[in-house]
Amino acid sequence: MKSIAEAYKDFPILNQTHNGHRLVYLDSGATTQIPQAVMDALETHLKKHNGNPHRGAHILAVEASEAYESTRDTVQRFINAKQREEIVFTRNTTESLNLIAFSYGMNHVKKGDKIVITIAEHHANLVTWQRVAERTGATLEYMYLNETGHLLPGEMDKIDATTKIVAFAHVSNVLGMEFPVDELIRRAHEVGAVVVLDGAQSTPHKKIDVQALDCDFFVFSGHKMCASQGIGVMYGKRHLLEDMPPFLLGGDMIEYVQEQSTTYNEVPYKFEAGTPNAHGAVMLKAAIEYLESYGMDEIQAYEHELVEYLLPKMTAIPHIHLLGSADPAEKHGVVAFTVDDVHPHDVATIMDSYGVCVRSGHHCAQPLGAYYKVPASSRLSMYIYTRKEDLDAFLEALKKVRPTMGFKD
Ligand code: PMP
Repeated sequence: MKSIAEAYKDFPILNQTHNGHRLVYLDSGATTQIPQAVMDALETHLKKHNGNPHRGAHILAVEASEAYESTRDTVQRFINAKQREEIVFTRNTTESLNLIAFSYGMNHVKKGDKIVITIAEHHANLVTWQRVAERTGATLEYMYLNETGHLLPGEMDKIDATTKIVAFAHVSNVLGMEFPVDELIRRAHEVGAVVVLDGAQSTPHKKIDVQALDCDFFVFSGHKMCASQGIGVMYGKRHLLEDMPPFLLGGDMIEYVQEQSTTYNEVPYKFEAGTPNAHGAVMLKAAIEYLESYGMDEIQAYEHELVEYLLPKMTAIPHIHLLGSADPAEKHGVVAFTVDDVHPHDVATIMDSYGVCVRSGHHCAQPLGAYYKVPASSRLSMYIYTRKEDLDAFLEALKKVRPTMGFKD
């Protein structure tokens, strides 16, 4: 097995300077960098096998189909889905959630029903359910959190007999924490609700087993796990997919089209209208193989070690406050924070002047910001190529933020 501590060498983009400093990329929660092996896979595909999948009998169309479909097999194995037909390709997590909301939600939720989510959801897993609630007359109910990012006592009781959908992030993109996923899924199933698990921030960082989780839907994006932007996955249990109407209409999702009516292709194709992102699929397969060459458990353990290294040092700096838990045992490699008296955009700009890339803003979770009365924050997020040296550079830059703004302590 290769050493993860050396993985950064696989990423050409990291081998550069910015503002006279080594470029330190700590925004992997937004999007990840791409290793050479994944670039090579795309290059080979473009040079030898590029065609339009599922369209045509010629060699390049056939090879493009094979490449695209073999990614489906790889994803099925990667998240341990029971059947390959349960893997639907989309553009990203957002499109996957829209597909579920419009195709499942609109058809299975009615007035008087409830959709239950947490207050920490990404807008993609929130605005979608707002729309379903608005259109169907259902109620959207939130489970609230305490100061350290844990569900308040009794919040899970909101999942009751009227609940049809429970949707939540597997790992929060702001708090970097997991909710009690097993208990939430058990409770949802006890009342007959389906569970939509947003795996955007978990799939890249830990082993996923959708059968063990027993979630009904699971979604994630390729660009957060070393593949390209524009390829995402929607997993759904087959009996649910069979029962859902198509989301987008057009080529490839049909069986027969007549002047006034159409019959649809079978799953998963009825959800994949139009020319698919085969290039993204090629990169997703190569990215999964790349991550597996290090091992998903090993990646999780490596990032945990980094979190253990970082958090005590970070919380020892005066005027720094973390969102959610500061306990490394509860935190994935996503750490949102504020600096007293300094706007998060200024924090990010000052850090950038030292070559350190962090995110700032509301992180697409405005209701959480409003709830915590922290409308914006800065966020560091790590991945397989992050090193202790990167975290040291981050800590040094962080210490310079308040002095740069003219504060004396
Ligand atoms: N959910 C979570 C938890 C996320 O972190 C993100 C990306 N920030 C999304 C959904 C949306 O992902 P995408 O932009 O790839 O659709």
